[in-house]
Amino acid sequence: MKKLKIGVLALQGAVSEHIEALEKVMNKLYLKGKVITVKKPEDLNDIAGLVIPGGESTTIDRLMVKTGIWERIIMLAKKGLPILGTCAGAILLAKKGDKQVEQTRTILLNLMEMKVLRNAYGRQLNSFETDVKIPEIGNKLFRAVFIRAPVIEKVWGKTKVWAKYKNKIIGAKKGNVLALTFHPELTNDLRIHEYFVKTILP
Ligand code: GLN
Repeated sequence: MKKLKIGVLALQGAVSEHIEALEKVMNKLYLKGKVITVKKPEDLNDIAGLVIPGGESTTIDRLMVKTGIWERIIMLAKKGLPILGTCAGAILLAKKGDKQVEQTRTILLNLMEMKVLRNAYGRQLNSFETDVKIPEIGNKLFRAVFIRAPVIEKVWGKTKVWAKYKNKIIGAKKGNVLALTFHPELTNDLRIHEYFVKTILP
């Protein structure tokens, strides 16, 4: 089989944890290839999948525009590149015209029909961990880590709810693009990364 190259956008945020999780999954599935950091547009050449990590969405956004990566990600996503955006990464995938997010002058990749509320759990509940049900990865609950997490307020069009916790949307999917409001890379449970890698496989 062809060697698999998976990229992790490495402008800011929780990059190394995603790399580690993806490498473990590749080992587990006996896949040949590597996980690379994506810092400039050329790094996106021949990648089979891309993770946009959590961090600070405004910072990642500005660096994406500055480096020109932004336009290439949109182009590749439209051609079917599998993308996993977590937390800040999920915010960046949202639809343009989201006033609450755009107030921060975040440009947004505009790849999913969803409206996202930043820092939605407020000061009292800045960060927390909880077990969530994600039917797509099996019956066993997934320990989800939320850090100044957003909430996906609504989805429409081709974007579908992928996971919910207490009536709030915590995961949404549109074809090849998956957005999660929590950090799957901060636990030892590899099921979400495995799910993502399997969507990349031919
Ligand atoms: N609150 C951050 C933002 O708005 C997201 C936090 C995270 O990615 N853990 O960008």
